Amino acid sequence: MRLIVYNSTHIPKEQVRREQRRQHHAWAFQQLRGFIEYKAALAGAVVVAVDPRNTSRTCPVCGFVSKTNRVSQSRFLCGQCGFAGLADHIAALNIRGRALGDAPYVAAAASYESASSR
Ligand SMILES: [Zn+2]
Repeated sequence: MRLIVYNSTHIPKEQVRREQRRQHHAWAFQQLRGFIEYKAALAGAVVVAVDPRNTSRTCPVCGFVSKTNRVSQSRFLCGQCGFAGLADHIAALNIRGRALGDAPYVAAAASYESASSR
């Protein structure tokens, strides 16, 4: 079993204006990650940290990254290849792909597209 956690080294700039706020934010993520790693070790699971940047703006089929790929809060439409789907599902595919090393999730994304167009 594999668990995926966000890599907390990236903290958006608008949240780091005050040094104290940033430290508290980082501490909370570190503590949460510690709990997850502890429980995962007990269950024999592997924890994989993933950088979440652009996961909701990246096409899982062609890799095109653009803010405009996210046409609304819930819809994703790739401006390069036309791949479309639910934005949260696309982000989850990208997070999974990063955790697995980027390659295998392309096939999963393609099958999602054909399944959702039926
Ligand atoms: Zn694309």
